[in-house]
Amino acid sequence: MAYIEPAPIKDKENPFESMMSRFHIAAQHLGLDDQVYNVLKSPEKQVIVSLPVTMDDGSIKTFEGYRVIHSNILGPSKGGIRYDMDVNIDEVKALAAWMTWKCAVVDIPYGGAKGGIKCNPREMSRGEVERLTRAYTSAMHEVFGPDKDIPAPDMGTGPAEMAWLMDQYSRAQGMTVNAVVTGKPLVLGGSLGRTEATGRGVMISALAAMEKLKINPFKAKCSIQGFGNVGSWAAYLLEERGAQICGISDLSGAYHNDNGIDIQKAIDYRNNNNGSLEGFDGAEKIDPDELLLLDVDVLVPAAVEDVITVDNAHKIKAKLIVEGANGPTSAKADSMINEQGIMAVPDILANAGGVTVSYFEWVQNRLGYKWTAERVNRRSDRIMKTSFQKVYETSKKYDVSLRIAAYIVAIDKVSKTYTYRGGF
Ligand code: NAD
Repeated sequence: MAYIEPAPIKDKENPFESMMSRFHIAAQHLGLDDQVYNVLKSPEKQVIVSLPVTMDDGSIKTFEGYRVIHSNILGPSKGGIRYDMDVNIDEVKALAAWMTWKCAVVDIPYGGAKGGIKCNPREMSRGEVERLTRAYTSAMHEVFGPDKDIPAPDMGTGPAEMAWLMDQYSRAQGMTVNAVVTGKPLVLGGSLGRTEATGRGVMISALAAMEKLKINPFKAKCSIQGFGNVGSWAAYLLEERGAQICGISDLSGAYHNDNGIDIQKAIDYRNNNNGSLEGFDGAEKIDPDELLLLDVDVLVPAAVEDVITVDNAHKIKAKLIVEGANGPTSAKADSMINEQGIMAVPDILANAGGVTVSYFEWVQNRLGYKWTAERVNRRSDRIMKTSFQKVYETSKKYDVSLRIAAYIVAIDKVSKTYTYRGGF
């Protein structure tokens, strides 16, 4: 094949290069045509906007906003909007591509996109964040659309921002268009089951993988990094299915109890303590680095990217890693994990429960109908189980890790669709 190998990965991994190194391996296994390879590796559209916003003190501050559409081969593009000072075009490009692969793995009719604004929402008033969100929506009016590009929340954004986005877009259209964005408050057309959807998908993936590894969930010990939306729901639902959660952590530190932590108690504590586990007495406080190295069966990184690296991968004792976070394992650590015989359910599969229920939200909005939580959960569980099985069978067929298998499933689907659709 004539395509050029991605540049070798440097010490601090660039997220786009890390994505490309996995893409490259999967493409080789598939024998992907080099012309299609080049189509799929290049984002379709990259939009950078400058957003002047009047701050509360009357001054005008200019922010930079991004939206990258990686692909709309499978359907309208889908992906969150991040408000963070570290937002940069390389990161947005990588996250957009991940969305393409994630939607393809779980077989939902979406392409991939991601957006972001370089800002610190914690230092801004609610009014400033609202004006910034409206300015961004207005600047992206030609990009967004229920049949074109559908944003969602990501780090630093939530239902409030999605409500402003929906309202601003609708005003410009002269009618209410709630399907332009997902992750909305329930009263604006949000879906039941969306809050817990990602953690629930992590639980379903973990159980499916435990079955393959013959780990009895009732005897399984787990540790979970991150106790936000994904981590706490994954912990709660895994405990509900019989597992013992022996380690949890958040920015305040890591907490260990070999006899199992009472997760409902930890959630209540966090909810009454400004969102933090600081001072939680249901477990012993340990060094945060130790959380990933505990002697457990299942490890769920559900906080930030690049936490399993060449520096600690060889010390991991878990038999199974289920990636709740996006990009928690650096590309360089992949082979170490594989050599140790640890099964890793990759992010683009394990945390796809969130985008799956976002898709259900969009479907409900377009139908003008509301599903029960029971229907949402039943359908998303089925998608997660089927997708896991498909990725597992692909890993056996090609004799590769679940991560490369997930990329193979995704790239195969997108490349075949591209070939049928054709280009210029
Ligand atoms: P969140 O903000 O609700 O929670 C993040 C948690 O991680 C917090 O408890 C925080 O204290 C903790 N944390 C941050 N840095 C940490 C560190 N260095 N060590 C330990 N804990 C740390 O975020 P979330 O929505 O739960 O997202 C977590 C991850 O899951 C992110 O990578 C996100 O991209 C990914 N993800 C989220 C969704 C979703 O639906 N929320 C969907 C797919 C993927």
